[in-house]
Amino acid sequence: MHIITNGENYVIYHESDSKFSIDFTESKAEATRFPKAYPAIGVMKRFKNKLYGYYVYDECRKKPEYENRARMMLSYEQRLEIYNRANGKCVLCGKEIKINKMTIDHIIPLSMGGADEMSNIQCTCWACNQFKSNILPEQFEKKIADIFTYQTDKKHGKELRWKIAKKLLQGIR
Ligand SMILES: [Zn+2]
Repeated sequence: MHIITNGENYVIYHESDSKFSIDFTESKAEATRFPKAYPAIGVMKRFKNKLYGYYVYDECRKKPEYENRARMMLSYEQRLEIYNRANGKCVLCGKEIKINKMTIDHIIPLSMGGADEMSNIQCTCWACNQFKSNILPEQFEKKIADIFTYQTDKKHGKELRWKIAKKLLQGIR
């Protein structure tokens, strides 16, 4: 069996009607047991912001299987530098954000081997950060284009205006 822990607290995982959530407990007995490692790793990735410093522990082999790497602690000066670099806007959608509301985003995700350093960090709004989570910037752009194309197709698929716009879009990509 596999559990998710940071050595002190344990994770209880809830899944119902395709809604997912986690709770924490100090009691090992209450921890959710995963028969295989990969669903536990999936939970680690889904809740990576809440689970920094946590790892998947294999109770049979008595060793950690997967670890969320410790995140670099940013000083106020570093946060300000990142914020100013982006002119106070989310680098992904362009929305203006307050410095205390900005989300630190790794350009290349840590889970994909990106470095935990200033050159790999950018400022995004919370919504974009949640949406992008574990994909590369190019994939993120393609994903947005795909979602936009698909959704607009569903709504306006028959309209000539959209057919022309779609041709243009596909030409750009
Ligand atoms: Zn944004």
